[in-house]
Amino acid sequence: MAFPTLSRDQIQELLVEQSAKYADLQEAQLKLDLTRGKPSPEQLDLSNALLSLPGDDFKDDGTDTRNYGGLAGSKGLREIFSEVMQVPVDQVVCGDNASLALMHDTLVFSLLHGTVDSPRPWAKEDAIKFICPVPGYDRHFSICETYGIEMVPVPLNDDGPDMEAVRELVKDPAVKGMWLVPTYGNPSGSVVSEAVAAELAAMETAAPDFRIMWDNAYAVHHLTEQQTKTADILGLCAASGHPNRPMIYASTSKITFAGSGIPFMGGSEANIAWYLTHVAKRTIGPDKVNQLRHLRFIKDVDGLHALMDQHRVILAPKFSKVVEILEARLGGHEVATWTDPKGGYFVSLDTVDGLASRVVQLAKDAGIAMTPAGAAFPYGNDPRDRNIRIAPSFPGLPELEQAIDGLATCVLVAAAEQALAS
Ligand code: PLP
Repeated sequence: MAFPTLSRDQIQELLVEQSAKYADLQEAQLKLDLTRGKPSPEQLDLSNALLSLPGDDFKDDGTDTRNYGGLAGSKGLREIFSEVMQVPVDQVVCGDNASLALMHDTLVFSLLHGTVDSPRPWAKEDAIKFICPVPGYDRHFSICETYGIEMVPVPLNDDGPDMEAVRELVKDPAVKGMWLVPTYGNPSGSVVSEAVAAELAAMETAAPDFRIMWDNAYAVHHLTEQQTKTADILGLCAASGHPNRPMIYASTSKITFAGSGIPFMGGSEANIAWYLTHVAKRTIGPDKVNQLRHLRFIKDVDGLHALMDQHRVILAPKFSKVVEILEARLGGHEVATWTDPKGGYFVSLDTVDGLASRVVQLAKDAGIAMTPAGAAFPYGNDPRDRNIRIAPSFPGLPELEQAIDGLATCVLVAAAEQALAS
C-alpha cells in the first residue's frame, strides 16, 4: 500500500513488522558489499587466456613491444576502439591501465598548460568551474575537488543533462567543461540522445576552450540484446565548428581485467597532438606488452562483442534480480523509485527525500555495505538525500538477493520512521 494513504496505526504496524525483519538481518551477521562496480571473479575468468599471451612473438605492427617507444599505443587495438569510440584511428591513443588516469592528466595538463584553445593555463584563471550532471561518477568529482575546480550540479535526465540548465551555465566564461558518461551512465544508466548530443556540440559557450569529458566507459556494456549506439560526439562537434570540444574516453577495465586493462582517449587531431606532447614528459611509452596481449585476445570488434556477450550472460540475471526484488518489496509503497538499466554497472535507487543516509546507515549496521549516500554528487552532497547507488556485479546471485532484500527492509524501516516522525 502507498505510504501516503496509510494511517499512523498502519504505518506503526508496518514498522513493527519490518523491524522484526531487520532484527533477523542483524542476527544473520551478514558481510555483503554492494559498494563498487567491480567485475565478479566469474567475469574476470573470461579473460584468463590473456595471461598466457602474447606468446613468443612480441612484435605488434613490426614494433618490438618489449622495448621503449610507441607513445600512442597499439595500432591494432586503436583500430578496434576507433570503431567503438567513433574516432579516426590516428586520433585515438591507448594508455596504461586506467582511463581515469587519462582524464586526470587531461585536466592537470589543462590546468598547467591550458588547452589548444586556452588564452592561458586554467590554473591562472580566477576560478574554474565544471558542470556535473547528477547523479554521476564520484571519481570524476574527486578529480575536480582535489584541484579546486568548482563543481556545479545539473539534473541528469533519461536522455542526458538538463539542457536548459547547461545552456544557462555555459554563459559563464569560468565554466570550462563538463563531465558526461554518454552511454549507461554511472549510476543512472541514462543514455545521452542524439538530440541532446547535437545540442551540446552546437551550443555557444563563453569559454573558448570548453571541454566535454565524454567518458564512454560503458560503450559496449549492454545488458540486453539491444546494442544502444552512442552519439557521434566528435562528428557532431566538428560539424558545429567546435572540433576540439570533446575529449573521448573508453576502457577495457570492465571488459578484461579491472585495473589491468587498456584505456583509450580520442579527440580532434589538435587535442591528441596536445595530449601526446604533454604525456611525453611523463612516460617514454605505454605498456605495449599488455596492449599486445589485449590485441591478441580480443582480436577484432567482433571478438570484443563476443566477449561482452559472455559478460552479459553473467550480469543480466543479477540486474533482473535486483529489479525484481525491489519491485516485490517496495513496489506500490511510493517510498522509492529505481532504474532498470539496459547496460552499464549500476541500479540507481531514489528514496523519498531525506531518507538515503538513514537507509545506508541501517544497511551498514546490518552488515550490508553500500556506497555512502551522496557519493554520486559533487562534494558528496545530495541536497535531497535520496540517491543510493547499487552495484550488483560483484556478489554471487544468492548474496545479491540477500543484500537487496535487506536493503528493501532498510528502506521500509526508514520510511516508516520518517512518516511517524512527521
Ligand atoms: N569511468 C566510469 C564512468 C566508471 O564508472 C569507471 C569505473 O567504475 C571508470 C571510468 C574507471 O575506468 P578505468 O578503470 O579505466 O580507470
